[in-house]
Amino acid sequence: MAIAMKRLRSYLAGAWADGGESSRAVLVNPATEEPVAEASTAGLDLAGALTHARSVGGPALRELTFAQRGELLRGVAKAIHAHRDELIGLALINAGNTRGDAKFDIDGAAGTLGAYADLAATLGDKRVLLDGEGVQLGRSARFFGQHVLVPREGVAVHVNAFNFPAWGLAEKAACAWLAGMPVVSKPATATAWVAHRITEIIIEERLLPAGALALVCGAPGDLLEHLGGQDVLAFTGSGDTGARLRALKNVVTDSVRVNVEADSLNAAVLGPDVEVGSATWELFITDVARDITQKAGQKCTAIRRVLVPEATMEAVREALVERLGGVRVGDPADDGVTMGPLATAQQLRDVRAGLARLGAETEVVHGGGAVPSKGFFVAPTLLAARGAGDVVHAHEVFGPVATLLQYDGAAEAAALVRRGGGGLVSSVYSDDRGFLGAAVFGIAAHHGRVFVGSGKLAGHSLGPGTVLPQLQHGGPGRAGGGAELGGLDGLGLYQQRVALQGDRPLIEALTR
Ligand code: NAP
Repeated sequence: MAIAMKRLRSYLAGAWADGGESSRAVLVNPATEEPVAEASTAGLDLAGALTHARSVGGPALRELTFAQRGELLRGVAKAIHAHRDELIGLALINAGNTRGDAKFDIDGAAGTLGAYADLAATLGDKRVLLDGEGVQLGRSARFFGQHVLVPREGVAVHVNAFNFPAWGLAEKAACAWLAGMPVVSKPATATAWVAHRITEIIIEERLLPAGALALVCGAPGDLLEHLGGQDVLAFTGSGDTGARLRALKNVVTDSVRVNVEADSLNAAVLGPDVEVGSATWELFITDVARDITQKAGQKCTAIRRVLVPEATMEAVREALVERLGGVRVGDPADDGVTMGPLATAQQLRDVRAGLARLGAETEVVHGGGAVPSKGFFVAPTLLAARGAGDVVHAHEVFGPVATLLQYDGAAEAAALVRRGGGGLVSSVYSDDRGFLGAAVFGIAAHHGRVFVGSGKLAGHSLGPGTVLPQLQHGGPGRAGGGAELGGLDGLGLYQQRVALQGDRPLIEALTR
C-alpha cells in the first residue's frame, strides 16, 4: 500500500519550519524502498535556534530545581510511553525495525528518562551540586575550598546516529535537561521520523519550558559552526564524522566541549571452563545470537568478535548456526518476521563492502549474502577467522555479522580483544574466578564497560548489548573516548566544575 509522503519539519526557536527544495532528503521504508517522508533544512536559521535555546531555554531550566527538572523528564517519559504503539509503527516503516527492535529503542528512551527522573527526586530542591568534600586550604580552618557543579550557560547540541532515533534523543537530553541545559537535537536524517514525532508530542503537550528543545530535521548545515565556549556537542555516529567534528575551527578555538560515541568492535570471550549446555553456555549463545540479529546488528554495542577456545569451537558453531537458522528475515510488517532490513541503501553498501573485506581472512559459517528481494536485506551472518585476523579487529561491519576467533588462555584472549583499539563493551563468560580476573582486567582499561557473564546471571540480565542509564556508556580509542549516562556522572558533560575558595562558613552558606 502506498504511503502518503510526510514532510518532516524542524522545530527552531519555538516554531516549526520547513526548509527549501534545494537539499530535500527523501526517507524510505528500508524493507520496500518506498519513499515515506522528506526533510530539508535549506535556508533555515540554525544559528538563531542556538541563540533562542541559550537565551530562552537555558534560563528557564536553570531556574528550576533538580526535582522540578526531574518532573519534566517524567512527563516526557510518560508521553513517549503513551504514544508507544504509534512510535513503533513509525520505526517499522522508517527504520525497518521489527516490533521488538522498535520497543528496544522506544522503551529504552522512556526508561532512561524515567531513571533520571528518579535520580532527580533524590537531589530535591537543589540547583547546585557539591562535588566531593570541601578541603581546608590554610593553616587555620577558615581558608576553605569546595568544588561545585553548575549548569553550563550555552546550548547542548546532540547529533545522533540512525540506529536509535528515540533512545538517542532521550538518553542525551535526559542528562542535559536535568543538568539545566537546553537541547538542540539532530537525529540522523534517514530515520528521523520517530524523533520528529517525539518532538511533536513534547511540543503539543507542552511538556517542557519554551526553548528547552529544538529539532533539526535534515542536513546539519552550519549548525555546528556557531557553537561557542559555553556550548556542548555530543555526537554519536561513525569515527570519521566524529573526527571531522572535533576538528571544526570554532570547536578547537573556543574549546567547545565535545563528547564522541563512535565505532566499536565489541568482543565476547567464552571461558575454557564453560561446558556445553551449562547455564553460562546458554547465556553466551543467547547473547551472541541476539546481538547478531537485534536491529539487524545495527547496534553500537553488538558483539562483533566471538572468542572461543579450540575445545568448544565446533559446538559454538553448531549452536549459533542453529539459532541463526531460526531467524526469519523480511519486511517487519509481515507476521513471523524476526529480523528486518538494514536502515539505508548506504548501510547495505557498507555492510556488503565490509563482508568483502572480512572475506580475505574468514570463511562463512552461516549466511553471508544478501537476501534476494527488494529492500536493504542482509542474511544474519557468522564468519570464522582463519587465523588471528587483522581486518576483523579494525573494521566494524555495522550489520548482522559476527566473526569467530580461536584463542588459547586468558592472556591471548585479552590480547586479541585489545586489538580492537578501544571499545564500548566487551564480555567474558565464565565461572572460573581465576580466568575471569585475568581476562576482565586484561581488557578493562580498553573499554567503557565489561560484562561478566556467569551462570548465576542467566535469566537476570539484559546482556552486554543493552545500555543502562545507571552505567557509563562510551569507551576509549576507536569508541570515541566519550562517556555518557552512568547515573549522576552523566550530568557532568553539561556542568562546569568550579572550585570555590574563601571563608569556610561563607562558602558553606553559599553552597548549601
Ligand atoms: P554518521 O554518518 O557519522 O552520522 C551520524 C550523525 O552525524 C547523523 O546525524 C549525520 O547527519 C551527522 N553528520 C554527518 N556529517 C555531519 C557533519 N559534517 N556535521 C554535522 N553532523 C553530521 O554515522 P551513521 O552512519 O549514522 O551511524 C553509524 C555509526 O555510528 C556506526 O559506525 C556506529 O558504530 C556508530 N554508532 C555509535 C554509537 C555509540 O554509542 N558509540 C551508537 C550508534 C552508532 P545526517 O544523517 O543528516 O547525515
